[in-house]
Amino acid sequence: MFEITRKIEIDAGHRIREHGSKCRNLHGHRYQIHVSVRSDQLVAGGSESGMVADFSFLKELMISEIDGPCDHAFILDAEDTLYVELFGLREVAQAVRRDARAAPALSAQGSKMYVVPFAPTAENLAAHWHALLAPLVSAHGKGGIFLAAVRAFETPNCEATFPAPGRFSVIEEAPPRLAEPLALAAYRDHA
Ligand SMILES: [Zn+2]
Repeated sequence: MFEITRKIEIDAGHRIREHGSKCRNLHGHRYQIHVSVRSDQLVAGGSESGMVADFSFLKELMISEIDGPCDHAFILDAEDTLYVELFGLREVAQAVRRDARAAPALSAQGSKMYVVPFAPTAENLAAHWHALLAPLVSAHGKGGIFLAAVRAFETPNCEATFPAPGRFSVIEEAPPRLAEPLALAAYRDHA
């Protein structure tokens, strides 16, 4: 089994509305996102010969699905009614809840927003990006490669990985549905 990993960094704001402490506040992070792809065998022949996949393929995927919609955006929980109202996004939030899909949007003030149907924790974001990227990775090349894991760092000290090591086979059979909120462990403090 081979594995390759591509990393990008984005800046984004969020808040965890039900957090008992400082994560309730509007604040931002420089997120580091690592996407790891695996394959049993390397490509034979062609421009990706000897590779799991071209690193530029992963970069382009991460730019289009993560950096484009989320960099310098505020990541807003559709259930965060206080800020949904403040930002003038009631209709977008309703659509996000109904379709269980994230949506890029502009606030009433013209700011870049990314409205999601879950609390924007590192854990949920890692699972969300995994669900977005997995089918695109699987469709690449002649088959055999799959998305192993997405790691989302909120800070250099705080990281969430989805799926956690040891659960790959479960996830391959049953990718997570965004409609189903993920069970969250207690949100880690930004130590
Ligand atoms: Zn935070």
